[in-house]
Amino acid sequence: MKIIFSSILIVLVTTALIHAQTENEFIEFYCSKPNVVQRLDKISLQPHEYDVIYYDIYLDWYQVLKNVNRNYSGNVLIRAKVDTVNSLNQIKVNCGLSVDSVTQNGAIIPYSLASNVLTINLNRTYNKGEIFEVKIYFRRTRSDNLGFYYYAQSSQTFENLAYTMTEPSDARFWFPCYDDPSDKADSARITIKVPNGYSAGSNGLLRSKTTIGDSTTFIWIENHPITTYLLVVTASKYSSFSQFYNSNFPPNEQIEVQHYFWKSDSTQAVYVARNIPTMMQCFEAYYGKYPFVKYGHAYVQPFSFGGMEHQTLSTIHRNWLTHDAQSGIAHELAHMWWGDLVTCETWKDIWLNEGFATFSEDLYREYTQGKDIYFASMNVKANFYYSNNPGYAIYNPAYIFNAAISYYKGALVLNMMRFVLGDSLFFKSLMDYKNQHLYSTATTNDFKNSVSATIGSDFSYFINQWIYQPNHPQYVYNWNVQSNQTGVYSLNVFLKQKQTHYPLYKMPFEIKVQFADGDTTVRVMNDAIDQSFLFVFSKSPTNIIMDPKNYILKQINRDITLDTGSSSIIKGFYLYQNYPNPFNPNTVISWQSPVRRHITLKVYDILGREVATLVDEVKETGIHHFPFSIIHYPLTSGVYFYQLRAGNPSASSPKGQAGQVFVETKKMILAK
Ligand SMILES: [Zn+2]
Repeated sequence: MKIIFSSILIVLVTTALIHAQTENEFIEFYCSKPNVVQRLDKISLQPHEYDVIYYDIYLDWYQVLKNVNRNYSGNVLIRAKVDTVNSLNQIKVNCGLSVDSVTQNGAIIPYSLASNVLTINLNRTYNKGEIFEVKIYFRRTRSDNLGFYYYAQSSQTFENLAYTMTEPSDARFWFPCYDDPSDKADSARITIKVPNGYSAGSNGLLRSKTTIGDSTTFIWIENHPITTYLLVVTASKYSSFSQFYNSNFPPNEQIEVQHYFWKSDSTQAVYVARNIPTMMQCFEAYYGKYPFVKYGHAYVQPFSFGGMEHQTLSTIHRNWLTHDAQSGIAHELAHMWWGDLVTCETWKDIWLNEGFATFSEDLYREYTQGKDIYFASMNVKANFYYSNNPGYAIYNPAYIFNAAISYYKGALVLNMMRFVLGDSLFFKSLMDYKNQHLYSTATTNDFKNSVSATIGSDFSYFINQWIYQPNHPQYVYNWNVQSNQTGVYSLNVFLKQKQTHYPLYKMPFEIKVQFADGDTTVRVMNDAIDQSFLFVFSKSPTNIIMDPKNYILKQINRDITLDTGSSSIIKGFYLYQNYPNPFNPNTVISWQSPVRRHITLKVYDILGREVATLVDEVKETGIHHFPFSIIHYPLTSGVYFYQLRAGNPSASSPKGQAGQVFVETKKMILAK
């Protein structure tokens, strides 16, 4: 789902300035919807004793669209399997509707309805694994518009309009169901009766359209698993057109994209849809095959949101059509993978839907406009987050549709994950996660476990610091340059974390080092709250920029009082990354020693064979640089390791004899 003004906000990124008023409208709009955000406490239902297999929904919207009666009657057959208990003779179903009767195999069975929960006494006891069916005949008699919306023709509603819109938990107000994202029906059939001349769009494929007298009945079949908040029906006197996307999986399979709009919007509806094939191509390239049988847009107005990713048929505010909101359109399409194919198992995990769809907006930007636009758009999102951070974590947020947290910070965390893992591992992680949970649901913990398996190491630290913790790190830094008579310039960078809410954020840091004649960017791992880094250059750095691409959500300031004295900062042994790296034929290997100690510095090839001993003597306290040139060694291109051993000259000597042993190894690349 997307809030109404967000796409307009982001669309402006490419053209230039973000109009302040737009942001204000965005925030005001959002804050005016407390009814939406207060529903987290409503979502926990009774223990789930059965697993829904199938919904067969019938809706009679004839009188509604004739503008005779704002309410309608219908029925739903629920097929379910006894799931978590050994036997079951009573079920509970969410139902914010009036109930006329409940049957099993055509026979009436007893029920009671209280507090929007329908309790049904089954006709016998069913054992674990057994399948049962109940059919509920209901009427919508509510005066509010929860779940179901009807607008008579007016200046902004060009034809009588009826639609459903339920995220997170209003599906119960248009048909009785188990209204929780964790339970996907394997399939669904939706039958809608409307007056002649009206179209009724829904999930999946149109099975039939039958006209009898002055009414027409549409039957839609969704053959893929679907959860209740993603079911939809939208009906009006619509015009329509279809585009066809040639999927790459398998080659040439065509995906139909159906658009429902009012006739006067015909030209604009075609125009606004122009990029959908490219969006499909982009998301298929990164996320794999489009997961459903069709896609589409149904334009509505009024609408409390911008867009809603109903499975295979997104509901889109007509504003997005008139404003050509490409970003919003990309967002809803991306939800087909993130939200519809893989669905957040609980609303606490909403960022798995919204963070991913919001990230995808910028992935599409990058795909079509390049990396600079991607970074520019991420920066706008970061600034929105800084200005509107409510101070709670992404996981289990107080307000699930908070734009700064579930949407923007969620997207920015994925951007950071991409930075940490690199493109290939990042997108493989997303793909593996998707493949493990497709047509099903996932929690944040599932995501963490999946990524950990893909990257081969525990990803908990990252999820903990960015998803389970609120806010972001606060850094101070300082730097200086020291030179010696050999023309070697040592750049010392000091980085300290100051936040109080979380002890340590572990993140790589890029540092752009500027010289009189250009710049270079180095990357370090910041894994201590108080850390210094040393880089060696053959020319003098003139300035540094920390995290020049703003990957990391943070506050950072230079603190010129931060300790730059060379003796006091040597708090331990440290082996620095060689510079330059890769190299040919010269590089410099540097280390620091807090005490006078015997030092060996050796180079090994990739098979672990020693190829050079560079240092084997007692060295004084301080920072040392060793210029290493391969002209003295017959080395071929490839990966080498250099190892510093301090305090114990040979591995066979008993530990402790010469004090504690410090050993550190780093990788360098010889590129001839
Ligand atoms: Zn969304």
